[in-house]
Amino acid sequence: MDICSLYKEELREIFSKRGEPSFRADQLFDWLHSKRVLEYSDMTNMPASIRNWLGDEYPIPSAQCIKRQISSDGTEKYLFSFADGNCVETVAMQYEHGMSVCVSTQVGCRMGCRFCASTQNGLVRSLTAGEMLAEVYEASRLTEKTADSVVLMGIGEPLDNFDQVIRFYDLITDERGYAMKNRSVTLSTCGLVPEIYELAKLKKQLTLSISLHAAFSEKRSSIMPVNLRYPMDDLMEACRSYVKTTGRRVSFEYTVIHGFNDGDEDAEKLASLVRGFQTHVNVIPVNEAGRGDFSATRKQAEIFAGKLTSLGVNATVRRTLGNDISAACGQLRRDTVETK
Ligand code: SF4
Repeated sequence: MDICSLYKEELREIFSKRGEPSFRADQLFDWLHSKRVLEYSDMTNMPASIRNWLGDEYPIPSAQCIKRQISSDGTEKYLFSFADGNCVETVAMQYEHGMSVCVSTQVGCRMGCRFCASTQNGLVRSLTAGEMLAEVYEASRLTEKTADSVVLMGIGEPLDNFDQVIRFYDLITDERGYAMKNRSVTLSTCGLVPEIYELAKLKKQLTLSISLHAAFSEKRSSIMPVNLRYPMDDLMEACRSYVKTTGRRVSFEYTVIHGFNDGDEDAEKLASLVRGFQTHVNVIPVNEAGRGDFSATRKQAEIFAGKLTSLGVNATVRRTLGNDISAACGQLRRDTVETK
């Protein structure tokens, strides 16, 4: 595991095995996660002898920006490359309440959602916690802003990279590091039921968001193969258990595909599913630049959200940011990989 993925106690163990005092580990943690330097030579309070063996044995992961698109509304989209040449997308969005960074958790994805560009070539590999942190740190450096929140909604299924995502959460919320607020991290999943139970057991304060995208199980299976493995009833039961165990709310994402999942019966079924959750449904028009012949306008998404609202569901259409650089999630990477 790379050095930025390690907890402070694990760093202390490394130093202890070398016969070095534990405060050196705390200094290192501070350089990596608070000051966020990328070279050991910049760690000026660390003796050269220590910097040398650290440099030889523990390269610092970094996200190198190889494409940067800036929207007129301030949204920035990056294609970041890691040491092995693999790339992911990261988006920095500016809201009134501050900056939110959308982080990728894997290179590619094996979940196979039919409307998604990220899954077309399957999963290449999962990212380490250090690489996910590097996405946030580099976005902060490029925008010269500290992120107020993070959404794990980029390329990949976060719960398919469970251990590293938990490390990422623990490290980014560490008071001695980036010090993000516990509740400012949102994890979005397509619905890996066993991992939702595992997550609940950990009682983290993160916000769980479920990508539902269809209210009828058969329809959901036709666009999200994960539903064949973990059917809707099991998923909703896992969500109820998550709320009960953690005391946190679960929110839902619903991508509108016009003519497929935006009828009155879809709204009624969705309302019946989420009733009792005191939740919020984020309605999103499907991005036509994604995959397949799916389409929906913002207006059609608003009409569907209106149907939900009239049924007593708290639903809104997410503000669309970065319209003029609007590539579907995964498209920037896909286009780059395909033109190589
Ligand atoms: S929508 Fe998310 S889970 Fe589904 S294939 Fe795309 S990245 Fe994977």
